[in-house]
Amino acid sequence: GGLVTGRSGELSAADRIDTTVAHPARRYNYLLGGKDNFAADRESGDALAAAMPTVRLAAVENRMFLQRAVRFLAQQGVRQFLDIGTGIPTADNTHEVAQAIDPTARVVYVDNDPIVLAHARALLSSTAEGHTAYLDADLREPEQILAHPDLRTTLDLSQPVALMLVAILHFIRDDEDPGGILARLVAALPAGSYVVASHVTWEFLPPAVIAKLEANNHDGRFRARSTEQFAGLLDGMELVDPGIVSVARWRADDAPQPRPSVQDVSFNGAVARIV
Ligand code: SAH
Repeated sequence: GGLVTGRSGELSAADRIDTTVAHPARRYNYLLGGKDNFAADRESGDALAAAMPTVRLAAVENRMFLQRAVRFLAQQGVRQFLDIGTGIPTADNTHEVAQAIDPTARVVYVDNDPIVLAHARALLSSTAEGHTAYLDADLREPEQILAHPDLRTTLDLSQPVALMLVAILHFIRDDEDPGGILARLVAALPAGSYVVASHVTWEFLPPAVIAKLEANNHDGRFRARSTEQFAGLLDGMELVDPGIVSVARWRADDAPQPRPSVQDVSFNGAVARIV
């Protein structure tokens, strides 16, 4: 079982859902081939695809990276996951992948999109031996996440936790201090914990494509970061082999071959150990 709680007390989830404006969670759902999206999300996704025709492939590869990373860490014995920027539930969510390996795995999901909140029940289908919870909270307020009673009853922060920041850090602007946010979360976790992160990079794309993507960044919220900038966010941690690579290539020997090119995916991924 699980809990759906958070700061939505004043306003119901339905009141907070604006279907006329594209939202990252719903656009990503559209790019993955999902059905939980509206016209504005599809238009925004199509505009992205017009600028970068392989963007759907990139979304699918990012999702497969998330699943491989969870499987890898569950096999290493990690049984607690804090998945911030959950997205709209799809097949093989974090708890399903982890609990398939260890049914006692415990997962706290966090997202700030009301549409994800509205779908949270699908994330609460834990095994009886494990537990899942969903928090309606914001990555930019890490203390609120860490202090949340449902997090504290679900996760034991004296034991290793996999902090998952998959395809979310590029929605944090530089002036919002993504490095500082990460540092505050990491400081709350014991040594032997891990960070799983992925991040869009534009460094492999030709200038004409970048110009189109820039023109598409209407709210200015999206911030691609180079491999070097992404490495800077993971500074002080121990990168797990093979380090920072295209999400399509992270421990992907068993994935369908040949693997897509780094340009076509333009998405870096890494797992780092907190020391
Ligand atoms: N991690 C999933 C989903 C990525 S889509 C995956 O990789 O498959 C990015 C998600 O991050 C969306 O659901 C969006 O609502 C969420 N998000 C963006 N900014 C956020 C913030 N500041 N706080 C919490 N969630 C955020």
